Amino acid sequence: MKHKKLLWQLVPTYLAITLGALLLVGWLAANTVHRFYISQTETDLEVRAHLIKEQVKKDFNLVNRLSLDSLSEALSQISSTRITFIDINGNVLGDSDEDPAEMENHSDRPEIKQALTAQKGVSIRYSTTLKKRMMYLAIPVKSDANESLGVVRVSLPLVTIKDALAHVYSGIAMGGLLGLILAAVISYLVSKRISNPLIEMKSGAIAFASGKLNHRLTSPPVEELSELSTAMNKMAVDLSKRIETVTRQRNELEAVLSSMVEGVFAVDIEEKLLRVNRSAQALLGVKSENWQGRTLTEAVRNPDLQRFVIDILENHETIEDEIVVGDKFLQVHGTILHDAADREFGALVVMNDITRLRKLENIRREFAANVSHELRTPITSIKGFVETLRDGAIDDKESAVHFLDITAKHTNRLNAIIEDLLSLARIEQNTESDRIELTRGSVRDVIMSAVGISLQKASEKGIPIEINCSVDAHADIAAPLLERAIVNLLDNAINYSGKGSQVMVNVEKQNSEIVISVKDSGCGIDAEYLPRLFERFYRVDPDRSRKLGGTGLGLAIVKHIALAHNGKVSVESKLGEGSEFRIYLPHS
Ligand code: ADP
Repeated sequence: MKHKKLLWQLVPTYLAITLGALLLVGWLAANTVHRFYISQTETDLEVRAHLIKEQVKKDFNLVNRLSLDSLSEALSQISSTRITFIDINGNVLGDSDEDPAEMENHSDRPEIKQALTAQKGVSIRYSTTLKKRMMYLAIPVKSDANESLGVVRVSLPLVTIKDALAHVYSGIAMGGLLGLILAAVISYLVSKRISNPLIEMKSGAIAFASGKLNHRLTSPPVEELSELSTAMNKMAVDLSKRIETVTRQRNELEAVLSSMVEGVFAVDIEEKLLRVNRSAQALLGVKSENWQGRTLTEAVRNPDLQRFVIDILENHETIEDEIVVGDKFLQVHGTILHDAADREFGALVVMNDITRLRKLENIRREFAANVSHELRTPITSIKGFVETLRDGAIDDKESAVHFLDITAKHTNRLNAIIEDLLSLARIEQNTESDRIELTRGSVRDVIMSAVGISLQKASEKGIPIEINCSVDAHADIAAPLLERAIVNLLDNAINYSGKGSQVMVNVEKQNSEIVISVKDSGCGIDAEYLPRLFERFYRVDPDRSRKLGGTGLGLAIVKHIALAHNGKVSVESKLGEGSEFRIYLPHS
């Protein structure tokens, strides 16, 4: 529907009312004037009729009646009226305008009938003789003895009335037109006075709707509108306060959810995501702009998680589960959401990332299996040789000594593994509980001491150890541990290098770190083994390691010693060309 402006509704209404009133007044005025003219004419005619009657009464006898026609003409000229004399039978005796001989009998004319029976007869009708609308007034003519002699009829054409009325009508029309123009102007001004404040209020309401709640409406002079503007201003203030409260509450909720380590997301009954906190976005791999307005299925393609949410929504209960999303293990806890009226409106899921826990469990399991495996070999050998000795070999002294040598070798190996495991466990524990004491000391001294320990083994194999320690760096160190790490690296460098190769120990400062590198030109390691090299019991060639008396824990100890110093380790190696192991120590 097309809406009209208030102005264009009010102005035509005012005009219609004014016009209606003018028409009514005009009609009433015209009617009154008409009636007044008619009665005036009637009175006038009656007076004239009576005057004429008195004049002609005596001529209504049989003798004089022939003179009535000429009398009618004479009197008509004096009184400017058509005059007709009629006898009691309706025969026209004289007429000022026509020849009575040619006129028909008038006994059927209403004014004549009335005049013969009453005091007067009046009729307004169209005269076929004169072709005009006429007013006829007839009065009886009576003898002195009250005997009816005939009728005197006077008449006037009503054209005069019509002319007079036309003047009145044009006067009314002119006045009406002026009144109408005046009404139009006044109604326009009045309408403006009403509609202007309304227009201002409309723009104020639009401003409120578009969020400009600081806007204030001015108070219009009209009382009702003024009250309305006050109410609207109050509404804006209330609304602003409410929005402020809601925004603050939302921000608080947002802040709480954002700072939660747990991933939290909420869905409605249709599984549409209502809220996904930052942790949940990271855990589920969804971007903040990606989840809004989407369902869980659209945002996260994980059937297990979808089934979990469906289970909560269908079973209306709190459930727990473990779900794998990508490379993460999530412990999920889901519950139904209720609104203030206790109606279910969705589900809330809280997720804990237990990937590290699971990985640690796996490492622990793997470690236990590795330890068992590592220990089983020497124990099986020792058991075998002890049984062989008991079964008689003990009597053969030569064999017995040989077997006991082997048993001793395996025992040493067991001891070495256990020693290394204990060292590793101690370093790890002390690192975790922050019990490793780091004191300011010379890195160069530690290197010199470590090289001193490995020197004999190196010279046995004919491998020279070159030390390049130009800077006498000082750092916060646990000297015995750092020495152990460098000895381990030197041991490996000697073990996995052939005769004629050489080992180089290098110390240098790089930005805020001291880098100790042990480089050899030995067998080197294939790139595929490098990522796992620092794991416990990880060996590239287990047989070779065992033959060399290795426990498979040397590099793991190096890594944990570096971590105990808040540092790190790295390796670079090329098969057949040699390896370089580095320890990075923080330096300040
Ligand atoms: P292991 O007791 O076997 O030496 P480590 O933890 O010290 O155990 O070393 C793990 C594995 O890394 C070794 O078995 C060996 O295969 C490889 N490795 C370590 N250092 C070197 C090196 N300098 N050159 C070649 N391979 C090495």
